[in-house]
Amino acid sequence: MKINMGIDVGGTKVLVLVLDNNYNILSRAKGKTLKGGATPEETCGAIKNLADDALEKAGAKWSDIVDLGVAVPTSIDPQSGEAFLSPALGWKNIPIRKIMSKTLGRELVIENDANCGTLAEHVKGAAKPFKNVVGFFVGTGLGGGIIINGELYRGARGLAGELGHETIKFNGRKCGCGKRGCLEAYCSKTAFAATLHKNVESKNRKTVLSKTSSAKFKNLRSSDLAEAYFDGDELVREVLEDGFYMLGLATANVVSILDPECIVYGGGVVEALGNSIIKPIKQGFSENLFGKKSSNTCLVISELGDDAVPMGAMINAKMRGKN
Ligand SMILES: [Zn+2]
Repeated sequence: MKINMGIDVGGTKVLVLVLDNNYNILSRAKGKTLKGGATPEETCGAIKNLADDALEKAGAKWSDIVDLGVAVPTSIDPQSGEAFLSPALGWKNIPIRKIMSKTLGRELVIENDANCGTLAEHVKGAAKPFKNVVGFFVGTGLGGGIIINGELYRGARGLAGELGHETIKFNGRKCGCGKRGCLEAYCSKTAFAATLHKNVESKNRKTVLSKTSSAKFKNLRSSDLAEAYFDGDELVREVLEDGFYMLGLATANVVSILDPECIVYGGGVVEALGNSIIKPIKQGFSENLFGKKSSNTCLVISELGDDAVPMGAMINAKMRGKN
């Protein structure tokens, strides 16, 4: 039996997929990411247990795996396999490829999660017809990926496509990375929670989410945001539409640099809100775009949802193996 595996190590959950060579999913396993002081070795050990579950469900064993790809929420140095910085996992300059490979007992290919998601949407999802694609993935943070002529573009040190940290407002809101005015500080679950909190605390605004969320909206789920949005909660609509307008503005910036044929939007928040969120994105895009008609760039929502990142990790491992 020949199979492949893709693993998405997210800030809150791990998703393991077992796939055949045509990217059909044979089995899956999902669990929480070990955090709160866990060492990278312990985090990888928990991932191995989930991978064991997924293999058992598929009736396969470790020696059946041809390609194994892992996606992580940080930039990865393509040469050393070192993780640059992941605030969510508490990783900084960690030799993660080496640690993961030792724990899983075999070679693997490791890559940034949004790079993987963009690659999967290009190969198998919403951006399939296009050779030049940029992806934005809105979850706890905001990740990006760039495909040029059908290939993932990593840059000189693996830092290309860090679109969440492009500055969209000089001296703007503080970002988790330490800079000010990053896109992630305007359009991510972390940003939405902080903006809701500020409006409730200092402007005395009301939202239905105050009843279900903890103080400061720290445990905000994408599904809660979407429910309040569709129920017409005025503050939630305002905060989300302002955030996604900024994403449209950032899209216009990317188009002025790369002029891709297609932009794909994914991640938990986008998946929960669906096509309804395209309107403010398009507004931010068309009002800030230079030199061409906004209708000439295709803006689409992810088709693969949660599966995009682990599937892309496996596709990336397959593609790199051939190089
Ligand atoms: Zn930042």
